[in-house]
Amino acid sequence: MSELWYNDKAPMFETKTSKSIIHPFAVKNYNGLAINPYQGCGHRCAYCYATYEWSPEFYDKIYAKSNAPEVLDRQLAAWKATTIDPVMVASATDAYQPAELRFGLTRRCVEVLQKYNVPYYVFTKSAIIERDLELHKKYRHNCFIVWSITARSEKIRRLVEPGTPPAERIFTTIKKFTDAGVCSGVNIDPIMPLVTDSDSELDLVVDACKAAGLCHVFGAMLRMRTDIWERMKAVLTLLEVPDGVNEYKRLYHFEEPLSSNYVSADKRYAKRVLDGLEQKIKNRGMLCDFPDFMGPRQIDKSHLGQTTIMSYLAQTSDQPVLLS
Ligand code: SF4
Repeated sequence: MSELWYNDKAPMFETKTSKSIIHPFAVKNYNGLAINPYQGCGHRCAYCYATYEWSPEFYDKIYAKSNAPEVLDRQLAAWKATTIDPVMVASATDAYQPAELRFGLTRRCVEVLQKYNVPYYVFTKSAIIERDLELHKKYRHNCFIVWSITARSEKIRRLVEPGTPPAERIFTTIKKFTDAGVCSGVNIDPIMPLVTDSDSELDLVVDACKAAGLCHVFGAMLRMRTDIWERMKAVLTLLEVPDGVNEYKRLYHFEEPLSSNYVSADKRYAKRVLDGLEQKIKNRGMLCDFPDFMGPRQIDKSHLGQTTIMSYLAQTSDQPVLLS
């Protein structure tokens, strides 16, 4: 079994400083901005796309970017354009992983985003976000919270995402957010062929989304890459998927060794699964899409203050400045 994915050790925490926090981010057809208050992730998902080869400790050592809120504040104060696109919190880690309970950096970064009127999406697999329910609620006109949920079956989830809470616990959190009027969604991503792509498994997730009061549910197929394939082979073996390794090679049209580029699942197979998912979502009266209120906003710097002649005189004179 891959040392990089499944073990029962608690991750180690370290702090580091960063020169820049907000950065452009592109995935598939999406281009936007992202912040990552942490590097590494204790959720230990087998399919994780963020496990770069340069960071083999991705799951075992979590770096907290201790100056993230201050750097973000500086970068937004110096933002040249008058508008700003929605910011993803976070793109290469889970901003509400357990490290957040210790460092609180995500909360402080969100407060900075709100101060500048920056719209944001949070993508998480955590129930820890419940701590910040009131914070997101007061900004609900300008944020969208998305939980990534891949399976209701605990047998699958404990193996594939061993560091995450049970799906039932996450749906309890989601219900609190929808009850509070915070626009929320579930991203069933990735859908893993032969593991979570069955009608029965997808029905369970979509039914739970409906029961939690969600309007927005969507999903995507697993993409394959060298390191992901190594972990998925172990998943298929441990779940005793019949002829799983060969079936994956057939579905993804590859032979080993796999290249480090992403490989997508067979188009007809993927279309069948994703069309079926969309139908399930629509049949239950939900939308298979992002909400349309999220978009660029005017960045607000009014709190920064400006040096006027009067304030300059007030700072440099011993005498009171009189207004005539
Ligand atoms: S929660 Fe996201 S970043 Fe963390 S291990 Fe899972 S897929 Fe990777």
